[in-house]
Amino acid sequence: EHGAPWLIQGVIFDIAERKNAEEQVAFLAYHDKLTGLPNRALFEELLDSAIARARRNDSGVGVLYLDLDNFKMVNDSLGHHAGDLLLAQLADRLRTCTRDTDLVARQGGDEFLLLLGDLDRDLEEGGANPALAAAEVVAHRVRDALAEPFDLHGTSFFATGSIGISLFPQDAQDAESLMRNADAAMYRTKKQEPGGFMLFSDGDADPAHTFSLTTRLREAVREEHWVLHWQPIIDIETGEVESLEALIRWQDPKGGLVPPLEFIPLAEELGLIEAIGDWVIAELARQHADWREQGLDMRVGFNLSPRQLWSARLAEKIMSNLRAGDVDPRRVIVEITESTAMADPERTQKILADLHAWGFTLALDDFGTGYSSLARLKHMPVDVLKIDKTFVHGVHGDMGQASMVRAMIQLAQGLNMTPLAEGVETPQEHEFLRANGCRLAQGFLYSRPVPAEEIPSLVKREAGLLPVASHG
Ligand code: C2E
Ligand code: CA
Ligand code: CA
Repeated sequence: EHGAPWLIQGVIFDIAERKNAEEQVAFLAYHDKLTGLPNRALFEELLDSAIARARRNDSGVGVLYLDLDNFKMVNDSLGHHAGDLLLAQLADRLRTCTRDTDLVARQGGDEFLLLLGDLDRDLEEGGANPALAAAEVVAHRVRDALAEPFDLHGTSFFATGSIGISLFPQDAQDAESLMRNADAAMYRTKKQEPGGFMLFSDGDADPAHTFSLTTRLREAVREEHWVLHWQPIIDIETGEVESLEALIRWQDPKGGLVPPLEFIPLAEELGLIEAIGDWVIAELARQHADWREQGLDMRVGFNLSPRQLWSARLAEKIMSNLRAGDVDPRRVIVEITESTAMADPERTQKILADLHAWGFTLALDDFGTGYSSLARLKHMPVDVLKIDKTFVHGVHGDMGQASMVRAMIQLAQGLNMTPLAEGVETPQEHEFLRANGCRLAQGFLYSRPVPAEEIPSLVKREAGLLPVASHG
């Protein structure tokens, strides 16, 4: 019949399509999206085999760790687009610095790795080390490659980078240590001679040594150097604590408490966010059980990053953690930002509906900073609309801003969502929000995010957390 060829064609097409998709997934798992370069995982694997080969052939291997010195300036002054453009152009230039058999990879952020394999290891007359000489040649080439300005949408930008070098066999015996040592050497370069290069030395291996943010963040994930602080959300009429938002901090053994905006974006990019997010949920469940034992049955919220939201079996993962602490999902608020939600609204809508069905309360964070379509918003199963602090700050003194915040409060009410104002810092802001029907509020005026031990006394305060001025 006429149907058969169609069917066959359809099947063939499906297989081809799937094969393609699998190849694509394999490629994506080992390559960096922005530059197309191999990523750290692939670099480490290829470094492993280069070391194995070097053992057999009595040859050497070199690792160069490159970190740009002024990348943050590009992002801050010219924007992320320009930053991405710089990294892509830099990747192209780095490819030309090595032999075809060498490897250039992106480690993450503005950090790159170069692998030089099969280096000659026989010392020359006079003791010169040809492997080291080869690595130095490449380091010089990298520096030359940076000498020309980058064209970032018509703006010329001069980038400089610091390099650390480590060599097999003298500096380390395995891939991971070789990379760590190159990182340590890079860090010393950055401090002592930015824009230059240095060879790993034993002093760099000192445990008190500072590594790059990427390496330290990986270690923090391994060792779970995290702590949650909790910020009260209050009922604007009574000042009572309505719920608590969990906000993560990184307890860097050497750097004190690092705020989340300094590492969450990098963690997201490096694929570490899911591990961190899992810790947050587990800790939230543990803390909730702990407070219950003290007679406090709090409502608690936490933040989900984009990658977490897209991760498979999200609801089950959260639920299994909550069961471990015997926490009712109806006591838990899940926050996602407006821009995350609107990046792929159809998919988000399904995930949120799933979470809703489990009983979670859903909050749309940083509202006003993304680009919501009202038609979409109407269909998002969201319970709380968190008005971003940039709108709240100084709201009583600016007529345009005041009417925007009023509109957002009304929008929330119209969509059957509870309006919540973030970042309330002054009694005037508080009073404006109260008078305009915003039901919930959060901000330094009531309380900063605090360690868990401080919560019970805050919650039990007779007069709630209202500013003194608005009591009479
Ligand atoms: P957010 O979810 O919008 O959290 C509120 C941020 O505003 C917190 O910053 C809080 O300390 C700050 N804040 C609260 N009241 C005031 C105020 O009155 N004035 C001002 N200027 N700021 C106020 P924090 O703790 O530094 O967190 C920053 C962001 O990091 C959070 O923004 C959230 O997007 C992200 N984040 C925090 N914890 C986590 C987490 O566990 N997972 C994920 N994925 N992201 C997190
Ligand atoms: Ca939040
Ligand atoms: Ca927010």
